[in-house]
Amino acid sequence: MIVFENIGKSFGKLEVLRDINLKFELGQCIAILGPNGSGKTTLIKSLLGMVIPDKGEIRFKDISIKNAFDYRNQIGYMPQIGHYHPNLRISQLIDMMVDIRNSKDYELDEEIIDAFKLRDIYQKPLGTLSGGTKQKVSAALAFLFNPKVLILDEPTAGLDPVSSEILKVKIQKEKSKGKLILISSHIMSDLEELATHVVYLQDGQLKVFKELEALQDEFVENRLSRIIAQIMQMSKKMLCF
Ligand code: ADP
Ligand code: MG
Repeated sequence: MIVFENIGKSFGKLEVLRDINLKFELGQCIAILGPNGSGKTTLIKSLLGMVIPDKGEIRFKDISIKNAFDYRNQIGYMPQIGHYHPNLRISQLIDMMVDIRNSKDYELDEEIIDAFKLRDIYQKPLGTLSGGTKQKVSAALAFLFNPKVLILDEPTAGLDPVSSEILKVKIQKEKSKGKLILISSHIMSDLEELATHVVYLQDGQLKVFKELEALQDEFVENRLSRIIAQIMQMSKKMLCF
């Protein structure tokens, strides 16, 4: 469904993505892991066309995304940090998105709006919301148009434990419908429950792309946090030689 082929991206002299090759299919849940600054958000943004790679090609259903726009209708995106106009009210933002998307083409999924009780605060301007509440609005928008592909960049960061659980249950539900979910997070326990595959980036290099079960067998270890710690140690040792 989604293919990254030899993707490279530099910001000035900094190589942020180095020759990345990946292939994702519907029904998978991909955990995108790596230390801060390893290129996770850049990888995600390049799939959305928000960052243009210097090298390589990204294909969505066999078609290059270069100069393409329509494919984005099939993606729901929850950014790491949502930037919204501070004076806009939650209701106005949601109505505006529905208008832009020509909502009669979609069956709207308002489960997250209801679960997070966003209607109770619908008239609040986005500029007055806490970080966590903004995250809830971002989550509501990501799921609203019932997309086949969900891209969630650190979705539970900043959410309280109850809200985080609500979101995880929703992600699990959408995964079971056969959607493709890409999720970056530092909270390994969240990903352990959700991920079918693990992508591990370090300094823009793809160190690991494997099924979670295969990694668990290989490392004789079920906990993702311990597996990642071992991978990090191995990468460091490899750098010494
Ligand atoms: P991650 O999401 O893994 O924390 P990012 O993809 O956000 O990492 O960033 C990778 C590296 O690229 C970081 O060093 C970051 O500072 C740099 N970077 C990201 N976006 C830009 C940009 N627009 N201009 C310059 N440098 C950037
Ligand atoms: Mg990031």
